[in-house]
Parts: sequence; structure tokens; C-alpha cells
Amino acid sequence: MTRVCPICGRTSEEVPFIGSLCRDCYVRHVGVARLPGRIRFVYCKYCGSYKYQGGWNRGLETVEETLIEYAHIVLSRKLRPTRDIEEAWIEDIRLDKPFTGPGSYKLLVRVAGRSREGVEARQDIVVEVRADASVCPLCTAKRTERGYDAIVQIRGSTGRLGEQFRVEVRRFLDRIDRQLRDAIIKEEEGREGIDLYVADQTSAKLIASKLRAFFMAKTIDTYKLVGRRPDGKRRGRLTISVRIPEIEPGQVVKVGGRESLFLGWTRRGGLFVDLRSGRKFELDAESLWDRGFTPHPGGEQEGRYMLISRSGGTYVFLDADSNYQKVVEYPESYVHVYTDNLEEGGVYKVFRVGRHIYILGRSSGAQA
Ligand SMILES: [Zn+2]
Ligand SMILES: [Zn+2]
Repeated sequence: MTRVCPICGRTSEEVPFIGSLCRDCYVRHVGVARLPGRIRFVYCKYCGSYKYQGGWNRGLETVEETLIEYAHIVLSRKLRPTRDIEEAWIEDIRLDKPFTGPGSYKLLVRVAGRSREGVEARQDIVVEVRADASVCPLCTAKRTERGYDAIVQIRGSTGRLGEQFRVEVRRFLDRIDRQLRDAIIKEEEGREGIDLYVADQTSAKLIASKLRAFFMAKTIDTYKLVGRRPDGKRRGRLTISVRIPEIEPGQVVKVGGRESLFLGWTRRGGLFVDLRSGRKFELDAESLWDRGFTPHPGGEQEGRYMLISRSGGTYVFLDADSNYQKVVEYPESYVHVYTDNLEEGGVYKVFRVGRHIYILGRSSGAQA
């Protein structure tokens, strides 16, 4: 049966119909769906999280993206299809102008729907949005620097944490999950090392265990009562001391009193060479901490040699520290090379133990 649109007079043979009207007239006079005229968007001006149903939720990369996402959630929930539309949805949302902060904006919402007969229709609806900046509870805690339940103290194995390890720790902290990062209320650098003030103890334990695994560190937990909560429960504060072994590949270290060359970290622990026997050994972090380790102070055993020749089973060096006056020879079997490119004429950091000599790496030619 042919239908005739009472508004424009076109027939169902010419154009698609929704109910008794042609599609164009239906969209113009009835509409595809109803939306609220305005909505409110509250976001945290520090971290960009947003308020929804009474709670705070993590935002996206930018506040503008968060606002669009938020509008999608809220408007999809409030969308009501008109009488002859069976199903409707939001196809696209845009802002009328770039987001620049709190204020009023217009959302250009494209709504789509389908009639019982399967005819699809689209409509553009303008919704006003009021954006208000606020401060979320976590940022409030950060800004007042209260509200932390744990402290992670990052220190070096010898006490103060050295500068290059601080750099590595900062780099490490930049890379941990955002959720853990967000739990850090304050980061404080002092003479001894870095202190992290963490909102909750679970996050603090996670951060500490990640530091332990990454740096082969040792952690010690201490728990202190600091009063009572408003509900009368006892309130404790957890302090986790994280000690990072300050040793580097190529460095001579005393492990359990024995001079050892530290080759580097493996997945299980540290790889070393016992400098008296020339044997390699591996220690997991726990055994390393149990035995104790200290960087070797250097002294007479350390030096800088220039390689002159290696032929006939003999290595010949000139002692760079005695102005290249002294010739030193070592049989091949007592020379241990721990550098990639050993060449004649090159000056190397060496370590002498008994009859053995360890060539550790290139040294700058200049006298120290
Ligand atoms: Zn019509
Ligand atoms: Zn915030």
C-alpha cells in the first residue's frame, strides 16, 4: 500500500517512510531521539579525572577527550528513541570549540536510529555542557601532603644513594603503571636518597617489590602506629626501606670478603668472577645481600696499562701510571680479558690479583 506524507506530499514509492511520515519530515518534526538539553561535567584540574555517579574516575589523555567520553556515557544512558524508532544510538560527539578550561561548551551530537521497518535515520542534536574544574580526593591528599599511609625509602647499599642510581630510579618510576604512579602523593629527594609518600600500603608494597626485582634490592618493612582513625580503628604507617646495590658491571667488588669482578645482572642475580681463582659465579640477590659486598677501594691492585703486544703466549704492557716507563709481562694463561675490543696501543683499566691480571675496559689515556 502506498503511503503519502501529509506534510510534504511525497509517497512511499519515492522516499523511505518512518511510521506515517516520510523520513525527512519524521526527522524534522518528530526527531530520532530525545536528549537532555544540558549536562554537567566535573573534572579534576590537576589529574584530569572526572566525576561520575558520585565517584571519581580516571581520565583519558586530555580533558577534551575525557569530556567527549563522559558525554558518550551520560548521553547514551539518557537517550530516548521517539515513538516510531525502535532503537537509537549515538554515532558521534564533537565539541563546538577546542576545550580551554571551565565554562560552557556545545556538544554536537549525531544520533542515529532504526524504525521497526528497518529504516535508518540520523539527526544532529546540540547539547550544552557545563565544565567545572574541581580537585579530586587523591589530588587533595597530594596537595595537602597528608593522607599517605606508607613511605618507601630508596637508599644505596653504602648509605647515601649515588647520583647515577638516582637517575635510574627516577627513570624507573616514570615507567611504572599509572595507577601506582598516581598513588605516590609526594616524592622527596634528600641527602640520603629518595622518599616516596604513598597513599596506601598495598601500592607501597607493590612499588617496593618492583624496585627489589629490578634493582636486586633488599627491602625491610617497619610498621608504626601513628594514632587512630576517625572511626576509632588504629592507624599504622608502613615504612619500607629499599636498598639498591650500588655496583656496576666492570667494577671490582668485595663479595663476602673476596675480590670479585662484577660482570652484570642476570635474571637470577649478579654474575661475578672470583679474581683469585678466575672462576665465574652467580649469586641471587638474597645471597648477595647475605654475604655482603662493598666496592673495592682500588689501591695498588688497580692500574692502567697500555697493551704493546700479544704474541708467543705473552702479553706485554707499559704501565701508564708510571709514565709508560715500566714494561710488564704476563703469560697468556693469567690474562683475563673483560673488554670487547682489545687492541695494541690501547690503554686499559687493569686489576692485578696474585699472578692474574684482569683487563676491565678502556681507560682514557690521560693521567688521572
Ligand atoms: Zn514528508
Ligand atoms: Zn586529581
